[in-house]
Amino acid sequence: MRIEVDLDLCQGHGMCELEAPEVFAAKMDHVEIRDANPDESRRAAVEAAVQYCPTQALRLIEDDE
Ligand code: SF4
Repeated sequence: MRIEVDLDLCQGHGMCELEAPEVFAAKMDHVEIRDANPDESRRAAVEAAVQYCPTQALRLIEDDE
């Protein structure tokens, strides 16, 4: 899987970092993706991050898409 972030939408709330700190690092007003191709073992945390992002800036893309 692969993660994409729309930085026009991201406001740096940091919900994603709370859910998956090994994948996301929230900065002042945007997020840094620490691991754009996370291991399957992180799927639940990444899906939660995508779900709870208040601006829907995150997208999880499957490898075969
Ligand atoms: S939760 Fe969404 S808006 Fe907040 S830092 Fe993460 S991607 Fe950006």
